[in-house]
Amino acid sequence: MKIGLFGGTFDPIHFGHILPVKEARVQLGLDQVIYLPTAVPPHKPDGQVASPHARWTMVELALLAEPGLVADPFELTPDHKAFTVESVEHFRSTLPAADLYLLIGCDSFAELHTWKRWQELVAMVRLGVLVRPGWRPEALETRLTPEVAALMGTDRVSFIANRPVAVSATELRQLLAEGAQPPASWLPDLVLKYIQKYSLYR
Ligand code: ATP
Repeated sequence: MKIGLFGGTFDPIHFGHILPVKEARVQLGLDQVIYLPTAVPPHKPDGQVASPHARWTMVELALLAEPGLVADPFELTPDHKAFTVESVEHFRSTLPAADLYLLIGCDSFAELHTWKRWQELVAMVRLGVLVRPGWRPEALETRLTPEVAALMGTDRVSFIANRPVAVSATELRQLLAEGAQPPASWLPDLVLKYIQKYSLYR
């Protein structure tokens, strides 16, 4: 069994968090991808905007009709920073027979060297790196530390040839804060309805 893990703040979840993951699922032959909404992300010191509960709900709504994509509350710990290496250790012990893959965007891959125990992490789990607009794999290598660049071309890292999805949560929040209606291609309709019902980013 092959399982993907995909952590994030998902503030809010949008199609850039869904379409590339669906392509990764096919390309890597993953049986399931587990989304891990994070209550306290280690790499975002300014904190997030919507509450962990609201972000969790939006992930659930977004994945409701997506076969093979599920959410798990393991990183939803408000009193504890969610370090990916600890999540991977958890899933290795709860799913001992699974081949684990960690899905991350190109921007996150470029920061891998700052992650807690990152070398142990890449020894435990293979990485599936998703294309994000502005982060083409060919140009990415120039932004990596030599240690992370050395992983490229090994079996520890696969680059997913996904179609880039030009949506970012930061831009989406800005648009929502201005009271503008985001294009339907940016996020699932149920998520937008939930955001509007509770005025989440106004
Ligand atoms: P922000 O815009 O607020 O920084 P973010 O979407 O980058 O938000 P997260 O929700 O933590 O932040 O992202 C979760 C994961 O999704 C990260 O690995 C990130 O690189 C990846 N990701 C985010 N947007 C896209 C996108 N448009 N295409 C591919 N991957 C993406």
